[in-house]
Amino acid sequence: MTNQTFEQLKKTYESGRTRPLAWRRAQLNALRRLVTENRDAFVSSAMADLGKPAAETVLMELNLVAGEAQFVRNRLSLWTARHPKAMHWMLQPAAGWTIAEPKGVVLIISPWNYPVLLALEPMADALAAGNAICLKPSELSPNTSRLIAELVPQYLDPEAVRVVEGGPKETGDLLKNPFNHIFYTGGGHVGKIVMRAAAEHLTPVTLELGGKSPCFVDRTADINVAARRIAWGKFTNAGQTCVAPDYVLATPDVAEALAERIAVAITEFYGEDPKASPDFGRIINDRHFERLCKLLPVGTVPPEEPSSPLVQVASAVGAAMDMVGRRFNAVTTGRGGAGEMAGSANNAAKPTAGSNMAAADDGATASAAVEPSEIHKVPGVFDLAGRIVCGGKVDRAARYIAPTVLYGTSPDAPVMKEEIFGPILPILVVEDAESAIRFINKRSRPLAAYVFSRDHEVRLTFERQTSSGALGYSLPLGHLLSSRLPFGGVGASGIGTYHGKAGFLTFSHVKTVVTKPQFPDTLRLVYPPFNEAEAKL
Ligand code: NAD
Repeated sequence: MTNQTFEQLKKTYESGRTRPLAWRRAQLNALRRLVTENRDAFVSSAMADLGKPAAETVLMELNLVAGEAQFVRNRLSLWTARHPKAMHWMLQPAAGWTIAEPKGVVLIISPWNYPVLLALEPMADALAAGNAICLKPSELSPNTSRLIAELVPQYLDPEAVRVVEGGPKETGDLLKNPFNHIFYTGGGHVGKIVMRAAAEHLTPVTLELGGKSPCFVDRTADINVAARRIAWGKFTNAGQTCVAPDYVLATPDVAEALAERIAVAITEFYGEDPKASPDFGRIINDRHFERLCKLLPVGTVPPEEPSSPLVQVASAVGAAMDMVGRRFNAVTTGRGGAGEMAGSANNAAKPTAGSNMAAADDGATASAAVEPSEIHKVPGVFDLAGRIVCGGKVDRAARYIAPTVLYGTSPDAPVMKEEIFGPILPILVVEDAESAIRFINKRSRPLAAYVFSRDHEVRLTFERQTSSGALGYSLPLGHLLSSRLPFGGVGASGIGTYHGKAGFLTFSHVKTVVTKPQFPDTLRLVYPPFNEAEAKL
């Protein structure tokens, strides 16, 4: 079945159908229409999958896909043109240039947390580069996966763009095919599976992975602005954002005040009861919910009781009520998206071996041995996870975890051993910027690092002495939003980049072309036998 998909895409690619710029522009226009004309359906599917607020789906997913499609379409002539290059003097007269050609048939494997953006933004780049595409959306966001599978053939060339739905089994089948490029977004554990499968065919890969992105704050920062921006970056999509600040390293003179201001920002954003807020999302499934509960201080969450069928029904009803309540709040506050929910509110997916984040992100989890001297122990904090400053409430049936701030967290706490990927923000107290940098450098290279300091020297030191996919001064998530900036990780947080020109190049082969007139044959200068005196060796 999947082999057939690959063979059919290969045939299309080899027919030359995807190469003309007119075809690419038409596809990119259609992709833009796909997301703009189906705004309400996407809002509903993301709400059903993740309890995602309408504004987040529109601003952080649909608008970005539409913007990327337009950005790359408008630059196609420039990027696909011949770029002349100077030739070595010994070869003159001669000319050289580079030309970008499509890679061929590419596979895009996307995750559940931004189920539209992370499926369709790489698709825009792959279309711009003139490829035939197979997209495999995440089974953990089934409503959005289904919607994409329905819409893509209606808008895009069905001979050249195919969607294959499914989980690890279907992905494994796809990975057996000799794609010309594989673009994977998700955890590092599956990233390795993808890379191993790709090695079989020497297929190049782009791996967009995750990790623990640190955020440093010192006393030169405007503490209110820092608190609001960190809260926004962390709690958007209920913390399920690959570049969310994973934890904060704050100097002793600001740490506690910062924790309290973040709590204030949370109330400003989501009200006294974030559970009732239409602007705060839910955890994707039961497995991730249970994983996150274990990261809270001991005793915060009562253990799960074995549930009878009756309790299970009550739980499903509870989840549905939660969703309906939030929709009602959205409507009454005028912030809701249009349209009905596209599917069941309770989409708890079954655990899959490959997507276990706790077991996943190898580097980030493995290298956590830290000298305690770098982190201040906060008096009166007895749990490794720290003291709960705000949040800590959970609702299993609704898969709700309140936006939670932990203060005085120990580096040995479970919450510091893996990428959190949920609405829990630990704050660790560090002596100064140097200690923070040492702490960061003892761990895997993160997808992003953020620095809130107005001290120029401190900023420069971070820029020069740490390595991360991106670095944000006073701005979490911002780099993700621009088609002009390459986006990707480094080390354990990923291989390769995309967005805008970087994405176009990821899905292209830049071919070098040279030419030299046949007459007169001046190349004779380099033919043997050599005259050493002339060559001045
Ligand atoms: P996921 O479970 O949706 O998995 C991602 C994809 O891999 C899915 O399409 C899934 O079907 C497939 N998959 C799962 N198990 C597989 C297996 N055994 N074999 C083959 N394919 C398999 O997503 P996830 O891994 O839970 O995603 C969360 C991680 O992704 C986090 O670490 C996050 O930081 C990272 N992430 C990174 C980015 C980025 O842009 N760098 C963006 C979003 C998420």
